[in-house]
Amino acid sequence: MSTRFLVTGGAGSIGSFVCEHLCRAGHRVIVLDHAKSLKIEHLFETGNLQFVQDSVLNRDVVGRLVDRVDVVIHLAAIADPKRYVVEPLNVLHVNLGGSLLLLDFCSRQGKKFVFASTSEICGKNQAVPWTEDADRVLGSTRINRWCYSTAKAVVEHYCYAYHQQEGLPFVVMRFFNVYGPRCDDLGQGRVIPIFLEKFLAGKPVVVHGDGRQTRAFTFIEDTAEAVVKLATTDGAVGEVYNVGSDVETSILELAETMKRVGGFDSPLEYKPHLEVFGHSYEDIPRRIPDVSRIEAAIGWRAVTDLETGLKKTIDFYRSGGGRSPG
Ligand code: UDP
Repeated sequence: MSTRFLVTGGAGSIGSFVCEHLCRAGHRVIVLDHAKSLKIEHLFETGNLQFVQDSVLNRDVVGRLVDRVDVVIHLAAIADPKRYVVEPLNVLHVNLGGSLLLLDFCSRQGKKFVFASTSEICGKNQAVPWTEDADRVLGSTRINRWCYSTAKAVVEHYCYAYHQQEGLPFVVMRFFNVYGPRCDDLGQGRVIPIFLEKFLAGKPVVVHGDGRQTRAFTFIEDTAEAVVKLATTDGAVGEVYNVGSDVETSILELAETMKRVGGFDSPLEYKPHLEVFGHSYEDIPRRIPDVSRIEAAIGWRAVTDLETGLKKTIDFYRSGGGRSPG
């Protein structure tokens, strides 16, 4: 049966893969995104995709679009640690304000709300792997890094509250370091495109701190598959899910693996976080999910190992993908 979806941030990296799944399965999709439609242009020919270039903060547009669909997949967000430090106001406006607007319309119109949350929620809790109910361990509100985590956590609270008091059907997905083709432009955003720009140019790759901090790098196509399954499985409603690989990789191992897989020979350099980000940043030492809940709910696991995912990512960027126009 064909369902009507609104995908905010649908022209972004994860969004574009999600839209691919949905359109090819015969669902009708409206994308709301402030960016251009470059990553989803190939889907126009399916006849199932409509693109609206606008902001999730535009109340009139958001209200009208929610009215036209059955399910909202809310992926639009600012999710770049550098921006948490430099433009916390935008981070709060978009991640909190935009989400509350969508939630309000979904609740009033009885639409399912599928929300892209984050592994940042648990902050610097070192008791990994984290279940969805793990403690949140964050620093002071003086430290801008935590504004993103806090905004996403407030939205999660709203999801539970709307569900309990107004019957809103919701699903929350906590993403863990998603990477792959179509992610940030080279040199921008998160660690993999930043490292890759340096590797491709043969320049030194800068590891922050001692490089022993760990992450669970999750391939974008695995992530998109989880999003679609969670959004379309009735039994998944009313819960929060970790969406991530549970393989722990240090930043140093990441750099070494990229070097090996890509055949690069850039040297590694080390820089303290303080020198890179200033005082309004704190790093997260370990970040690994427990994935038993999502596995039980939809039978999903991240199946792409880091080497395979990195190879596909490096091939994508090597062949010219992910370069800023001009
Ligand atoms: N990192 C690094 N060099 C860089 C960019 C990032 O060593 O050029 C580190 C960063 O300090 C963090 C990890 O890589 O410990 C992951 O950073 P990212 O910005 O991808 O996001 P995070 O997982 O911290 O949200």
